[in-house]
Amino acid sequence: MVHEELKLQLAQFPGIAAIGVAHSGVIDSRAGTVLFWPMVEGWNDAPLRQIIEEAHGLPTFLEECVNAMAVAEQRLGHWKGVRNLLLVNVGWGIGSALFLDGHLYGGRDGMAGEFEHTTIEENGSLCTCGNRGCLERYSSASAIVGRARAELQQGVGSSLLHEVGENLDRLSVEAISAAKSYDRLSERVLSEVAVHLGTAMASTVNFLNPEKIVLGGKVPEVAGELFLTALLQSLRQRALPHAMKEMTVVISQIGEEAAALGMVFIAGEHVLRARCREIKGESRLGGGRLDPSRQRAESGSHLLCFRSLHYLQVPLSPGARKGDCSRLP
Ligand SMILES: [Zn+2]
Repeated sequence: MVHEELKLQLAQFPGIAAIGVAHSGVIDSRAGTVLFWPMVEGWNDAPLRQIIEEAHGLPTFLEECVNAMAVAEQRLGHWKGVRNLLLVNVGWGIGSALFLDGHLYGGRDGMAGEFEHTTIEENGSLCTCGNRGCLERYSSASAIVGRARAELQQGVGSSLLHEVGENLDRLSVEAISAAKSYDRLSERVLSEVAVHLGTAMASTVNFLNPEKIVLGGKVPEVAGELFLTALLQSLRQRALPHAMKEMTVVISQIGEEAAALGMVFIAGEHVLRARCREIKGESRLGGGRLDPSRQRAESGSHLLCFRSLHYLQVPLSPGARKGDCSRLP
């Protein structure tokens, strides 16, 4: 299905120089591989970059979704230019990314920032990573829905039952958030989830001393102020006061296209680097692997970047178009 959509996009716009893909899970961006993605069986160790390059004949760059979001936030958000930033994306799962001293930090194997696997309960429920009591089991949208459903099944009174027409399969984080101002169960579940997140965040704040924390994803977006207030209360209660003094926690303003937008910067910088290496005679765009389409890639003026259903076709920055190597970050 992705191939079909890509084919369609590329046919509509012939001037594409490279493809940027933001993908969730654990990604080795250097190798272009999806290392671990529990959402789809058999997708571990998948050579996604190679698959797309072979199918579409264009240099492809792969990055973890939440890292791409952090790049968009750091370049475009109203905290633009912040050097030490933690982005926590709370959706159906949780993801996070770190900017340390102005650079996206991946650690030795690109595994840094796996905040969602912070243990918050030693003997808690089993996580997809094999550990018990990981934050993701307690603070994601799936945890919120699961918790509300379990309480409703136990007979806890709530107007949510009326909202979903007694069909618990229709429970969603949107429905729970919409009921938070008048339904005690919804309000309590969302607050408790935010407290767990604040607890895990306090250890990270003490350890890394970030300037800003950006909350992205569906949960902060729909649960809004209630979620942020409970999280901040929990965070202030636990983190060192000096680490909290100048630090702020904000909800992302960029929205669902953040990952695709971040890929525009990431892929654009890769293209510029490749063109600069080419000018120096070191190597060619696509590392010499893409003979039939090399000319198209080298003369292309646009990028095609996507995450899930969000596709962006954007012009390369003037620096990348002209191979202006002084613009390399
Ligand atoms: Zn885990």
